Amino acid sequence: MVLDDLGSSLRGTLDKLRGKSRLSEEDIEEIVKEIQRSLLSADVDVSLVMELSDNIKERSLEEEPPAGTPARDFVLSIVYEELVALIGESTELPLEEQTILLAGLQGSGKTTSAAKMAWWFSTKGLRPAVIQTDTFRPGAYDQAKEMTQRAEVDFYGNPDAEDPVEIARKGLEETSEADVHIVDTAGRHALEDDLIDEIEQIEGVVEPDTSLLVLDAAIGQGAKDQAQQFDESIGIDGVVITKLDGTAKGGGALTAVDQTDSSIAFLGTGEEVQDIERFEPDGFISRLLG
Ligand code: GDP
Repeated sequence: MVLDDLGSSLRGTLDKLRGKSRLSEEDIEEIVKEIQRSLLSADVDVSLVMELSDNIKERSLEEEPPAGTPARDFVLSIVYEELVALIGESTELPLEEQTILLAGLQGSGKTTSAAKMAWWFSTKGLRPAVIQTDTFRPGAYDQAKEMTQRAEVDFYGNPDAEDPVEIARKGLEETSEADVHIVDTAGRHALEDDLIDEIEQIEGVVEPDTSLLVLDAAIGQGAKDQAQQFDESIGIDGVVITKLDGTAKGGGALTAVDQTDSSIAFLGTGEEVQDIERFEPDGFISRLLG
């Protein structure tokens, strides 16, 4: 991470320390306060921010910078390392045959992300198929069909069927020529028992290699309950953060990652099928601190 990538106020604070080979406790306090401010305004959970700040403070005071390293760069590297330790590298997704299950509340961006991920896998030379099991939201079938057409990937859904579990079963059969199966599920406005029951049953049928929780970047503190519930029911291996093209910085996703002991898989950056990026920590951390 380089200084230029940071938000102006944190950069300003760090810039004041230019040329110093040792930092005082006050210097470190000032930096940590600035980092706290950035992270809290990016919707990172308060207790996570406190834990991070304590680690950064402790390490900055106790550890010796390697010879010749300016104190400012040393602190910056600690900040970066601590954030990486929390966020982790991107969720492992081998470029081979696999089944991915998407979970999340309605409107989080599941259907869009399913098509985007399929497009992404197709650019890696694989043959993906999207299976749309959302019988709850009107329009989900048409939306998935249209987006998968634009992505030029296989698609299965049945607008007349009522049982999502049966659609999932049939979908796997009908798309057996594909090697990556991405199963989209229904969401609700809030977590409800029937939603959890349904996704558990779908999970039982599709036996996913990876289950991803799709979260809107603006989720904020609500991420914890969702992450916990979905993790308990199907086991969450990774998170997809959508709508990062907006102003929200996606700090709530860190709560989900921490809660589920998982990592971030993809970032959604727009409404088109190509608007997807594989997560990488550097850019995301700069954005959080920006
Ligand atoms: P679902 O109910 O979870 O399947 O959510 P949808 O995939 O239908 O997405 C809900 C809305 O968010 C739609 O209007 C999408 O176009 C929009 N959306 C999804 N992902 C993104 C994104 O990364 N950026 C933006 N700007 N909009 C998105």
